[in-house]
Amino acid sequence: MAVEVTLLEMHETIRDCTVAHHMMNREELYINGEWVAASGEGEIEVVNPATEQVIGSVPVGSQADVDSAVNAASTAFHSWSQSSIEDRVGYLNALSAAFKDRGEELSQLITAEVGTPIGYSRMAMVGTPRVVARSYAKMLEDFEWEEEVRNSLIVKEPVGVCAFITPWNFPLHQIIGKVAPAIAAGCTMVLKPSKEAPLNAFILAEIIDEIGLPAGVFNLVSGHGSEVGEYLSSHPDVDMVSFTGSTSAGVRVSQAAAPSVKRVTLELGGKSANVILDDANIVRAAKSSVGACFANSGQTCSALTRLIIPENKKEEIIEIITSRVAGFTAGDPLDESTRCGPMASARQQASVSDFIASGISEGATLLSGGEGMPDGLEVGFFVKPTAFADVTPDMKIWNEEVFGPLLTITTYSSEEEALALANDSEYGLSGGVWSENEERAISFAKNMRTGQVSINGGPFNISAPFGGYKMSGNGRELGIHGLQEFLELKAIQR
Ligand code: NAD
Repeated sequence: MAVEVTLLEMHETIRDCTVAHHMMNREELYINGEWVAASGEGEIEVVNPATEQVIGSVPVGSQADVDSAVNAASTAFHSWSQSSIEDRVGYLNALSAAFKDRGEELSQLITAEVGTPIGYSRMAMVGTPRVVARSYAKMLEDFEWEEEVRNSLIVKEPVGVCAFITPWNFPLHQIIGKVAPAIAAGCTMVLKPSKEAPLNAFILAEIIDEIGLPAGVFNLVSGHGSEVGEYLSSHPDVDMVSFTGSTSAGVRVSQAAAPSVKRVTLELGGKSANVILDDANIVRAAKSSVGACFANSGQTCSALTRLIIPENKKEEIIEIITSRVAGFTAGDPLDESTRCGPMASARQQASVSDFIASGISEGATLLSGGEGMPDGLEVGFFVKPTAFADVTPDMKIWNEEVFGPLLTITTYSSEEEALALANDSEYGLSGGVWSENEERAISFAKNMRTGQVSINGGPFNISAPFGGYKMSGNGRELGIHGLQEFLELKAIQR
């Protein structure tokens, strides 16, 4: 079934409204349909990375809070799993409508939490969750819950109580990529959002409360990954854990989950290649490759960070890229003309700065950007949008996920070499290929060991399965394949 959603529709989320700027100090967790005091010690401060000011805080959940939330989700499961498809469609559409109504508030909040330029925040941070929620409502209209295989009746049932552990870079999108299919499937859930950008999850809980989702279906416990995240992953009453974040934390989640043999899906890191074949439209490909790496200030798991180009087109491509990167202005994310915001945290700024320094010290050729803050900026966790040429597979910036605005350029002299370079990564999340010959591009794409490939800049599709090969993870999110992750199959023979 096709769910048609366009970028234009995402822009509909943009609304004129005044957003109150005030501190958001959240003191309660959302468990069993009620706001309740957390039992952990202290609070987690949320810092605006553009201003370095504290903008709010969330409570520290404890293992006791996780037990309450899992108990609420377990208790709610039986009746929610029997809920009618019409009811689920209604809740998903109400969720989508609420994202539209509170679109500007959410966009500004996520820009304050993550530093994402405001225009991109409206489209990707809030517009995408809005259409994803709606896409699952539509999908339910003709989803086949049963099928016949010879003498068997195969029935699809919700997997049960789910734990969701999510990161900060597209915080609401990553949450809704789990919450919406789980609601559609008839699962109940406990969400632990990231520490860096948790406030949007509290708005989501408010919305879920307002639309009247039955108590216990959705529960929110903020807190530390090593405490709340690991305990949730190991909890014997959790049937599935769906994790998005770094590969190292994903490994910890898998280890914690193993003794209880629960289902684990992992959406992890990436180091994706963008290959310009020799028959490509070079100008279009080179221009597009900067945005494909620098969207969300480079803090995108599927960013195309390793540009692989034909040796004999090197000068032409480098000239275009150098000027594009210089035009990728860093600054106030609330200024509509800003292309690159700050890194989401001081830790992230330090890490990206180390990668830039390592590119220089390992002998890559700096084309644009480099160490230090962008000119004219003194406050905020900024780095300079940076591109390096002559990057080789022995360098750290070739091998490791940077998660910032850093593009590497490497040349090849044959298509086989281009493919070998593209696949030279422990990750396998995404990729790009450019060619004027679609058959050639598809054949190249099929040989890339990644979960997604974009040909000639083909846009992101919220109905296509998203997920990784190799160390980029297990399982798929979005679309019908994302729904199937939340279902058990039962075969009834007669
Ligand atoms: P992170 O791994 O530090 O944190 C992600 C979440 O896991 C947070 O909620 C955190 O509190 C929790 N966590 C941390 N340690 C844990 C543990 N031991 N047990 C359980 N939970 C734990 O990642 P991040 O810095 O928030 O996000 C950046 C990373 O996420 C990057 O590597 C990026 O590539 C990846 N990412 C992947 C995708 C994808 O879909 N493949 C999407 C976005 C981000």
